[in-house]
Amino acid sequence: MKSEFRQLPSVDKLLGEQSIKRLTALYPHDLVVDVIRQRLEQERLSIARGNRCASAAEIAESVGDMVEGLVYPSLRPVVNASGVILHTNLGRAPLSKEAIWAMEEASKSYCNLELDLESGVRGSRQVHVERILCQLTGAEAALVVNNNASAVLLGLTALCKKKEVVVSRGQAVEIGGGFRIPDVMRQSGAKLVEVGTTNCTYIQDYEQAITDKTAALLRVHPSNFRVEGFTHGVALEEMIELGNRHGIQVLDDLGSGCLLDTTVFGLALEPTVQDSVKAGVGLAFFSGDKLVGGPQVGIIVGKEQLVKKLAKHPLARAVRIDKIRLAGLAATLIHYLKGEALQRVPVWRMIAMPLAEVEKRAIAWAGVLGDLAEVTDGEAMVGGGSLPGNTLPTKLVAIGTQGRGAVVAHKLAQRLRRGQPPIIGRVSGDVLFLDARSVLPEEDKIVVEALKDAVAGLK
Ligand SMILES: *Cc1c(COP(=O)(O)O)cnc(C)c1O
Repeated sequence: MKSEFRQLPSVDKLLGEQSIKRLTALYPHDLVVDVIRQRLEQERLSIARGNRCASAAEIAESVGDMVEGLVYPSLRPVVNASGVILHTNLGRAPLSKEAIWAMEEASKSYCNLELDLESGVRGSRQVHVERILCQLTGAEAALVVNNNASAVLLGLTALCKKKEVVVSRGQAVEIGGGFRIPDVMRQSGAKLVEVGTTNCTYIQDYEQAITDKTAALLRVHPSNFRVEGFTHGVALEEMIELGNRHGIQVLDDLGSGCLLDTTVFGLALEPTVQDSVKAGVGLAFFSGDKLVGGPQVGIIVGKEQLVKKLAKHPLARAVRIDKIRLAGLAATLIHYLKGEALQRVPVWRMIAMPLAEVEKRAIAWAGVLGDLAEVTDGEAMVGGGSLPGNTLPTKLVAIGTQGRGAVVAHKLAQRLRRGQPPIIGRVSGDVLFLDARSVLPEEDKIVVEALKDAVAGLK
């Protein structure tokens, strides 16, 4: 082993390697030397484990890979052919052209973020979205923060700290990604009072839990699961009526925060923000990058005096929204004001796309694959914690159901995932499914080219 350690090339020797010289011509000398040192340390550990020492050329080559790995952004666009329209792992909602343009404009120069151009005095960044949100939802006031998790945390902290919040046991849920209602509650300093049972909660359960310490009744959208069979829930209206009788606010974590009627697309009813406001909630909380179809933000709408309390709380500063996403959100919301959301907001374009059109595209994709693929019926999901258990009819390109089957499916899935750009499908059993519903029609050309390349590589 000792002799293997002696084989380790010096930093200077590596700097003399042809491939490293190419690196130092492109990137700062210090960066390259730093990575060489890291690579040599790895090699020492490898030798200590009993491996032989790699050659200088091999080490130099891997230094090249390591440097490139650092300087090329690892976060890059992918094509989402998974059939899950709002996929948290794939960055949730893609944005409209107008939203992208607004974000570019807001980022490339200065902007009137907190400057009232009429009077020349300092203004609030919230004015750029508050009026639009009030117009769309019917709320008295609105506040936008970093994301919905921080919106809920801010709401509970500002209004319920050291007091009690009553939640149905069936709604004390975990959304995923570490967001659990009991944990958020604890973090806010409010005391969670769970009522009812996992499957059934009645209005009397809430009523019996109300004490002089109760600050609010909280409703939580169960997001990614559904209880079926013998169940009973309490309507928001009933909770509000109860709250009004006791002078207690109802807070509503809507999760996705839908602004349009989902039933016209054959989906179940996703509760809308407008309905919550109309029912009289104190505050409703929802995400900007789920069914709203905008950038990652948390939106709070509701009664003015409550929104004001949240805006003034020190935590509001810690979860403040930035100018870029504020611009993107405003542009997205304007699509709804203009009645063009179904045509312009990508998430809604995907939901609203007629099955016949999805099929036409699937057939075109499958055409590239010849007898490796067939088009089958399938079900797409909206995702993003909305419409749990509900699906949209779709047409899938199914690869691996015929001929060489499973091997082709797995190989192709890997090739597509490693492509430029990567194409993400769904492997189920030994079949690779590609769903055109979650892919924008503008991306069809990319998919067809990628499929051609991937298939050519198989032969
Ligand atoms: C998604 C979700 C959240 C968290 O929203 P983020 O915008 O991801 O922070 C909170 N509550 C519910 C019910 C959700 O569905």
